[in-house]
Amino acid sequence: MTAQLDEKVEPIFQEVLARNPGETEFHQAVREVLESLGPVLVKNPEFTHHKIIERICEPERQIIFRVPWQDDKNQVQINRGFRVEFNSALGPYKGGLRFHPSVYLGIIKFLGFEQIFKNSLTGLPIGGGKGGSDFDPKGKSDDEIMRFCQSFMTELYRHLGEYTDVPAGDIGVGGREIGYMFGQYKRITNRYEAGILTGKGLDWGGSLVRTEATGYGAVFFVDEMLKARKDSFEGKVCTVSGSGNVAIYTTEKINQLGGKVVACSDSNGYIYDEKGIDLELVQQLKEVERRRIKDYTGYRKHAKYVAKGNIWEVPCQVAMPSATQNEINGKDAALLVKNGCIAVGEGANMPTTPEGVKVFLEAGIAYGPGKAANAGGVATSALEMQQNASRDSWDFEYTEKRLQQIMKNIHQNCYETALEYGAPGNYVVGANIAGFIKVANAMVAMGVI
Ligand code: NDP
Repeated sequence: MTAQLDEKVEPIFQEVLARNPGETEFHQAVREVLESLGPVLVKNPEFTHHKIIERICEPERQIIFRVPWQDDKNQVQINRGFRVEFNSALGPYKGGLRFHPSVYLGIIKFLGFEQIFKNSLTGLPIGGGKGGSDFDPKGKSDDEIMRFCQSFMTELYRHLGEYTDVPAGDIGVGGREIGYMFGQYKRITNRYEAGILTGKGLDWGGSLVRTEATGYGAVFFVDEMLKARKDSFEGKVCTVSGSGNVAIYTTEKINQLGGKVVACSDSNGYIYDEKGIDLELVQQLKEVERRRIKDYTGYRKHAKYVAKGNIWEVPCQVAMPSATQNEINGKDAALLVKNGCIAVGEGANMPTTPEGVKVFLEAGIAYGPGKAANAGGVATSALEMQQNASRDSWDFEYTEKRLQQIMKNIHQNCYETALEYGAPGNYVVGANIAGFIKVANAMVAMGVI
């Protein structure tokens, strides 16, 4: 682990460890936030009195359920579903659903915990939650995906509502899955309530820019960090891990701002294309044909595929981890810095281990943690909710401007909070403290609930 915890905070963390055994990712996420909070308690003794940190670390509600479904061979399959409704001080629970075989309660709780502060940072009225299943969508037919999504929603629907809990996508959950889940919700309830899910299709209540939002937002955030150092994306060589939703739109926006992405990946390996990744080809392979990234080299002969390779060995000036948690360890971080990396923007949630974070902070590079840098996705989900509530739809340009302004505000807020707390340029401290204070104040105002 990294920094010492404040003496008031240490016993709270020990209690979290004891109450949530085995949930290592949750412990990691809690510790990372708690490391920043010592000075906040000194300035705001009422937070200690009201036991705000202890309450924030305990989800308001945790739902775990059986998801039975039939595969194409008529065999019954059983998965486990989760929804952790973490904190609703600022608005209805909001956060995505992840379908991946690695999902268990500790993953959902780490994501839900981070989501509280991320959503607070957006400045929009949304609380924090997260859900998902250990279902593996890889290799499943469309029909199997549909039957699974229908079964998942047959339990989840009773916990959702425009003013209660509004899920969205995450790893393994994109437009197709949201469609099947929304259809089942509508069928069970006989109500067309667009506001119960975000990430919907454009013809049935979705918002323009939602698909692009997390990637675009992460690039806007890095752009702000670079501007604060009188620099820009122009001419920068970049690497983007993953080749899913976040990675694709991160790459698109980097290209638009004059950078060049030379590598991307999936869980089997990475591709290196010194001429710059051909994004249209990646989209065709991944979004349309649902193939593997190694197939890229079949169409671009000069590109290199490195099976089981580590994308962070590719020299770059800007790195944007956009795949999954703990994908950059201390060694990877040191290698990135050694190879000339000056900025890291986390499109993924908690992609850097505590040792990696320490390396970036000590090197003094511009490091944008996920809860700030990837908040554009959920922010645009909140814009989708606004459009649903007013039965309106905004055009692309306007929605993208709103997203860009939100990312600027988040950057400014983190930057100024870090300064105020004596840690200039430290966006970890800035994001944790700014995100926390707003939620804490709301919880104090609402009494012991
Ligand atoms: P997708 O499912 O669209 O893509 C995920 C990508 O990451 C795929 O290329 C996948 O490769 C790779 N990946 C997933 N798990 C692993 C793993 N264990 N090891 C190596 N590679 C892996 O998901 P998203 O793009 O939506 O999400 C990516 C990250 O961004 C996640 O951390 C998510 O929590 C975060 N995020 C997403 C938001 C959104 O709006 N979608 C919002 C905020 C954060 P493969 O196909 O081989 O599994």
